[in-house]
Amino acid sequence: MTNSTTTECPQCKNTELGLGKQGGYANVHPANKLSIGAEVEHKICTNCGLIIESYVKNPQKFKNTL
Ligand SMILES: [Zn+2]
Repeated sequence: MTNSTTTECPQCKNTELGLGKQGGYANVHPANKLSIGAEVEHKICTNCGLIIESYVKNPQKFKNTL
């Protein structure tokens, strides 16, 4: 589901990026809805550990929450 073209760490210029999944109690929940949280995926630099981008897996859940 990652549609970004970022392939390089902006900090250390490493190009070996990894994908991390954050689940369990770290899920992100819609602010004003009773709903199951969405898992968060992070694009991570495997050299310096910088989190370059973060995504929730079900962004549709967050419509109309503002
Ligand atoms: Zn890096």
